[in-house]
Amino acid sequence: MKLKKKIYPHCDFGGICKNKAYAEVFPSMLGGKHKKRGWSYLCRKHYYQEEKKYKWKLPAYIIK
Ligand SMILES: [Zn+2]
Repeated sequence: MKLKKKIYPHCDFGGICKNKAYAEVFPSMLGGKHKKRGWSYLCRKHYYQEEKKYKWKLPAYIIK
């Protein structure tokens, strides 16, 4: 029996980062110009960078 491989989402920050995702963020919930962005995955480093940019108001789900 073959075990199913666990798929880890990866950070999709600007296509320049290959780190494992740390959080799923929902910029579309902020409305306005972010509306069409939907959701995306960010690694720990980019997650904190983005949260700072949005003054910690960016809705996110931390992947455990
Ligand atoms: Zn990243």
